[in-house]
Amino acid sequence: MSKKAGIKELSPIDVYKLLPKTNCKECGQENCMAFATKIVNREITLDSCKPILKKENEKSYLKLKDMLKPAVKEVIVGVGEKAKKLGGKLVMYRHEFTYFNPTALTIDVTDEMPEQEIVSRIKRTENFSFEYIGYTLKLDMIAIRCTSGDAEKFKAVVKKVSEITNLPYILCTLNAAIAEAGLMAAPKANPLLYAANSENWKDMAELATMYHCPLVVSAPNDLNLLVSMVKTLTAYGVTDLVLDPGTFMNEGLGTTLNNFTMLRRAACKGGEELAGYPLIGVPMIAWVGKGEAADEIIKWKEAYLASMLVVRYADILVMHGNDGWALLPTAVLRQNIYTDPRKPVAVAPGLKVFGTPDENSPVLFTSNFALTYYTVASDIESNKINAYLIVVETEGSAIDSGVAGRKLTAERVADAIKASGVEDKVKHRKLIIPGKASRISGEIEELSGWKVQVGPRDSSEIPKYLIDKWQP
Ligand code: SF4
Repeated sequence: MSKKAGIKELSPIDVYKLLPKTNCKECGQENCMAFATKIVNREITLDSCKPILKKENEKSYLKLKDMLKPAVKEVIVGVGEKAKKLGGKLVMYRHEFTYFNPTALTIDVTDEMPEQEIVSRIKRTENFSFEYIGYTLKLDMIAIRCTSGDAEKFKAVVKKVSEITNLPYILCTLNAAIAEAGLMAAPKANPLLYAANSENWKDMAELATMYHCPLVVSAPNDLNLLVSMVKTLTAYGVTDLVLDPGTFMNEGLGTTLNNFTMLRRAACKGGEELAGYPLIGVPMIAWVGKGEAADEIIKWKEAYLASMLVVRYADILVMHGNDGWALLPTAVLRQNIYTDPRKPVAVAPGLKVFGTPDENSPVLFTSNFALTYYTVASDIESNKINAYLIVVETEGSAIDSGVAGRKLTAERVADAIKASGVEDKVKHRKLIIPGKASRISGEIEELSGWKVQVGPRDSSEIPKYLIDKWQP
């Protein structure tokens, strides 16, 4: 089994050695070394260097391609703008580098649902949208499950789905004849086929090669079988695979997380190429054998299983419950994990205007750390306060850590006041500063010439503070 070097072992020098080394700048970089550094940081693609694509450099190009190959293969589902990239992971732990391609959240429909229900579930999936610290959280895919056992029925539903949405989808059936009927309904849609198992793998492999679509390999709680099927399928010519080690509830939860972790560890730490494919989790398993349990309990179980699997390496999740309250925690958690730990989550500094402030309105400031900014902005906005808020460049630090680490200084606040143009908008010269920046209040007054009022430590208290203390 072939093994490859981890991301940590790859240095710019390794890349540089294989580049043309002409410093021609065609890639937009100053020289080949700068390009090599960007390549290692995944800030630029290898194909941006045109000279490396020339015939005489083919050997180096292929070597570089192989060196840069992620531990977990990137597999694309769907076509066009909404096509979804799965996997493409370089590292096991986010802090080792960063995670690419956020877990695709997928909602199911079945071929036995009334048409109206199918349409409404798809619309709800498409319309799910939540603003969170400057990001829009969305859902990604539709899973079309054949529960009828009827190929024609399945085909008709796939056709319907392909007509009403351009979200990518999964075709779920273990029956190859039914899967083919689904593929024929939209032959160019590049859906994910779910799934090949130890019994149907040959037929499914043929479909995947014939329709050029990715294929899920399923071996519930049997990693040896899973890996050996990957070996067989790749030898058969199927290159885009997604692994399903099984998702189990209750006493099976530990086993589920363990299997996901072992596969990802084998790929990222062990360099096992047969384990280096995206992983699919199926939290909707929570609905199996639901019995008398209330829907809310099942939705909650499904949501916590989804959250655990987002953390434990799932690249795609299939869910049945589509309530916002159940999906939102998973979507937020996903966002938190998939931000780049090398870059602070920050907003652009400058003057923000809330409501319709006039020359007597309060002027406040906060840091440009996204979480701080959006918390303060939401407290001002939701209380319908007319105010000016100066966002100070703190390199993404919060208020207290910014003050402690000298990222939030009186100089920066004074400069931000000047640059904001707020002096032309208000006739007073009073600045309300966050309570956690009180240490630098004197210095701010000195450098800015503004009178400083130390505001609350928590922005939720801003409305009350303004009522009690604001006098222009
Ligand atoms: S285009 Fe290629 S050869 Fe030219 S500077 Fe960039 S990396 Fe070097």
